[in-house]
Amino acid sequence: MNSKMNERELLNLLLSLLSRTTPHGQERTLAPLLPAGGGWDEADNYIIEIGNSTTLFACHLDTVCAERVKTKPCLRDGMIYSAKQRCPLGADDKAGILCLTAMIHANIPGVYVFHAGEECGGVGANYIAELYNLDQFKRAVEFDRRGINSVITKMGWEVTCSDTFAHALCGQLGMGFFPDPTGVYTDVLSYTDTIPEVTNISVGYYANHTAKEALNAA
Ligand SMILES: [Zn+2]
Repeated sequence: MNSKMNERELLNLLLSLLSRTTPHGQERTLAPLLPAGGGWDEADNYIIEIGNSTTLFACHLDTVCAERVKTKPCLRDGMIYSAKQRCPLGADDKAGILCLTAMIHANIPGVYVFHAGEECGGVGANYIAELYNLDQFKRAVEFDRRGINSVITKMGWEVTCSDTFAHALCGQLGMGFFPDPTGVYTDVLSYTDTIPEVTNISVGYYANHTAKEALNAA
C-alpha cells in the first residue's frame, strides 16, 4: 500500500512532527502527519496493522510540555534543537513516530501502536494492557530510548527481555547497538505480563524532558 520514504521526505516529516509540542490530550492533532490506514481507540492510541505479525512496534505521540506550542526546530552541526527554550523539543518521542512511519511505508509486518499519554504514566498503554488481548505477540519493541545504540534489557528493576533476544536484535541492528540494562519506564513495560520479549531501543535524542533536548539528525 505504501512506498519507502526517501531522506528528504523523512526530514520534512520530522520537522513537521517537531514543529509543535504535543501534550497528552492533544495526540489527535498529529493525525494529518501519521501514516494512513490505522484507527484511533478510546484512549487516543493510534494503531496500524501491516500483515499478520507476532511483533508489536511502539512509540508515543505525546511530548513533555504543559501546552501545545511552536518549537522552531533548527539544525546545527547535525543536531536538531529547539530555538525556543520554553519547552523540550519533543524528539522524545517524535523520533520514534518517524521510525514507525518509515517502517510502515517500507511494509514491514507488525502491529504498530502510537501510544497516548506515555509521559503521564502510560495512560494509553495501561488501557491496552487492560482491555486488549495481547496473546498473539512474541515480542514488543518500542522506539523511545535516548542515545544511539541501546537495546534495553531492564526497565527499572524489571528484566524485560532475555539476553539471547537482546544479542540477536543488536546483531540485526548493527551500528554499535548493545544490550543496555539501564532502562526506565516506557509504554511497553505495561505489556511484560503477556509479551515474553520486551525492549526499548535508541532513537537519537538526548537530554529529553529538558529545554536543551536535541536530536541527532544523521
Ligand atoms: Zn519517551
